[in-house]
Amino acid sequence: MDRPKIRLGVVGWPVAHSISPPMQNAALESVGLAGWHYQRLPIPPELFDETVAALPGVGFRGINVTIPHKHAALALATAPTPRAQAIGAANTLIFEDGGQILADNTDAPGMIAALPIPAAGRTALVLGAGGSARAAVWALLDAGAREVRVWNRTPARARELAQELGATPVERAEPADLLVNCTSVGLDPAQEPFKPLPIDADDVTSYECVVDLVYRDTETPLVQAARARRVRVVGGRELLVRQGALSFELFTGRAAPIEIMRRAAGAR
Ligand code: NAP
Repeated sequence: MDRPKIRLGVVGWPVAHSISPPMQNAALESVGLAGWHYQRLPIPPELFDETVAALPGVGFRGINVTIPHKHAALALATAPTPRAQAIGAANTLIFEDGGQILADNTDAPGMIAALPIPAAGRTALVLGAGGSARAAVWALLDAGAREVRVWNRTPARARELAQELGATPVERAEPADLLVNCTSVGLDPAQEPFKPLPIDADDVTSYECVVDLVYRDTETPLVQAARARRVRVVGGRELLVRQGALSFELFTGRAAPIEIMRRAAGAR
């Protein structure tokens, strides 16, 4: 096989599970970018900086960055967007010809693009206070949400995040327009699905739309509970597609073929 002329990839540790490569390669092929190729790049934290710095020299135009490297990616950038700076994490790096490294965070606008109702003027309850919760809280407030409440298993982290971004920390769930699960609960099918959360299955009707960042082979218990009660849902694969589509546009300058990406990611 000929070596690709322009390379893209996803850097994570681990990254074997990532469905970004089939999704991005399907998109590259569908817009006719022959010679472009997107691959997995398993890189441990201690090698992140030096490996990423070497990527432009071996043909990389850009990368997506996933757990646990999103903070390190921002720190490495020479030109971060205000959005990535405000969130404190980057999931997309672009290597410019002059050596500049642009950094953006497409998780935030990707989530807003995926919502079936506008966030402006609405209330939201975000579960979790990790990296993805930071992006979600920032995105909802930036999109004009009236109030964003944050609950976390470790309340001090919710308080810290809320104070920094202008949200409201809460210690129990209250009804809102949007419920956004940014915890990893739901990932492990062996784990009790609702016990670690401040809601149970019937409580999903207190929300107009349920967004679950978690995705796995089968629908998560939260998504199942919402669908069964006719509550609108946005699943983790759709969020993955939306952030990936925005990154694709930054990498290539082309409009993302979103339906192709959805099919390749199993979001349809
Ligand atoms: P993270 O920074 O490690 O944060 C994990 C969060 O989950 C923390 O708030 C943690 O609470 C909470 N948590 C973990 N185990 C828990 C439990 N047993 N009970 C209650 N809370 C628990 O991770 P992240 O980057 O925010 O990612 C969170 C999830 O979103 C992951 O499953 C990730 O795969 C998914 N994700 C999906 C997308 C997408 O595109 N669909 C994008 C980003 C992330 P404590 O603070 O108390 O530890």
